[in-house]
Amino acid sequence: MKYDVVIIGAGPGGIFSAYELIKKKPELSIAILETGHPLKERHCPIDGVKVKSCVNCPTCSIMNGFGGAGAFSDGKYNITNDFGGTLFEYIGRDKAIELMHYVDLINTSHGGEDTQMYSTAGTALKKLCMQNSLTLLEASVRHLGTDINYVVLTNLFEEMKERVEFFFDTPAEKIEAFEGGFRIHTGKGSLESRYCIVSVGRSGSKWMERICGELSIPTKSNRVDIGVRVELPAAIFSHITDELYESKIVYRTKKFEDRVRTFCMNPHGIVVNENTNGIITVNGHSFEDEDRKTDNTNFALLVAKHFSEPFKDSNGYGESIARLSNMLGGGVIVQRFGDLERGRRSSEKRIHEGTVQPTLSATPGDLSLVLPKRILDGIIEMIYALDKIAPGTANDDTLLYGVEVKFYNMEVKLKNNLETEGYEGLYVIGDGSGVTHSLSHASASGVFVARDVLERI
Ligand SMILES: Cc1cc2nc3c(=O)[nH]c(=O)nc-3n(C[C@H](O)[C@H](O)[C@H](O)COP(=O)(O)OP(=O)(O)OC[C@H]3O[C@@H](n4cnc5c(N)ncnc54)[C@H](O)[C@@H]3O)c2cc1C
Repeated sequence: MKYDVVIIGAGPGGIFSAYELIKKKPELSIAILETGHPLKERHCPIDGVKVKSCVNCPTCSIMNGFGGAGAFSDGKYNITNDFGGTLFEYIGRDKAIELMHYVDLINTSHGGEDTQMYSTAGTALKKLCMQNSLTLLEASVRHLGTDINYVVLTNLFEEMKERVEFFFDTPAEKIEAFEGGFRIHTGKGSLESRYCIVSVGRSGSKWMERICGELSIPTKSNRVDIGVRVELPAAIFSHITDELYESKIVYRTKKFEDRVRTFCMNPHGIVVNENTNGIITVNGHSFEDEDRKTDNTNFALLVAKHFSEPFKDSNGYGESIARLSNMLGGGVIVQRFGDLERGRRSSEKRIHEGTVQPTLSATPGDLSLVLPKRILDGIIEMIYALDKIAPGTANDDTLLYGVEVKFYNMEVKLKNNLETEGYEGLYVIGDGSGVTHSLSHASASGVFVARDVLERI
């Protein structure tokens, strides 16, 4: 089967590249290969009642399928060069922001029109942070919410399905380059195309590494972020979340001068399990729908670690820590901040007696047995720093879930147009390239390469 373009992966990167291609040149023949299921068939069996923890499905419905890892996410599209990836290093700051706004326009014309855009620019919080040794990063954020994000993806799929041939439950196995194109092998046959856009996300990181090895495309190791998810009464953070929804705050620790940052804030949200290659870590969601809101807010506190010589495997380090928590807790561990400070494990009874009721069923335990001292010290310092701008953060009953690990793919060596060196027409985008790690950056990278292909065709 011959196509103009074959896209590997139907996450935001793949979706937005296909969308841009069919909008600008509807006559192109385009195929998308996707490991997971169509959106409406994606169901995680964890229901909190019969199935409480991950049963390791052959294909994880949270990470794979139409919509990619972002399908059941909180749908926060951060429009910024300050975090979420380094796309601007390739395409320039202005272009990156312009494309993120363009993606926002598509989202808001496909069901997201009534959602809110927040901005950190010129807020009183910026000053308050500065006065307390904290830095508030600049961003505009469109919060779609898990429910509207699903609606937007459904609408995009409906619009694309007539023009794009989707092959679900069909992982790409191998990419073969030949004169004038690429042959992409799957377990069900192979596809040929002139251009190939690879957008396999975090779940495709190991596969990507193998492909880069086979095609001799150079790569370099990336960082890993390790920390905890904090859950507390929504009222404690309401003066921040009501105004900004998502605030990225950075703190430089006094002890080690490490950077600790807040990540993925979910006002009135829930804490959830995340499965990355069979390892259970923690994440968070929130909803636009009033009926699904909880009394709690959650966010992550993360510390970045980057290894280069002689040990290079930053992700392997993060995986080992997550495995340790899985070994001790059978999954995610939860601990009251007061218990952590007193050097004792949390128990069901202590959690139950606390004022913060957990939104995730996790095993009460002791995070100090899991997290390295340096990381844990940084997190504790940051909690006290946040307590100055949001009093109550350092309360005894504040819950900490561990571990949260943010894995980054190794960085694929790419030209400024996100094309691989030595293979004309082979692009690597989104989180799978190591260049992006967010919805808006991954989506923008998709639009960018689609336009590059369009210029050449
Ligand atoms: C629970 C959760 C919440 C999140 N919340 C946010 C948020 O609010 N804001 C934000 O900016 N980011 C968020 N993120 C991160 C965001 O989802 C990702 O940055 C984004 O989805 C990356 O897009 P992508 O297209 O590069 O990769 P992905 O979304 O990971 O998509 C890649 C797709 O490729 C498929 N694939 C992999 N290998 C193959 C193969 N060999 N053959 C065929 N298909 C393959 C996968 O099945 C997957 O569907 C969240 C992530 C998670 C897990």
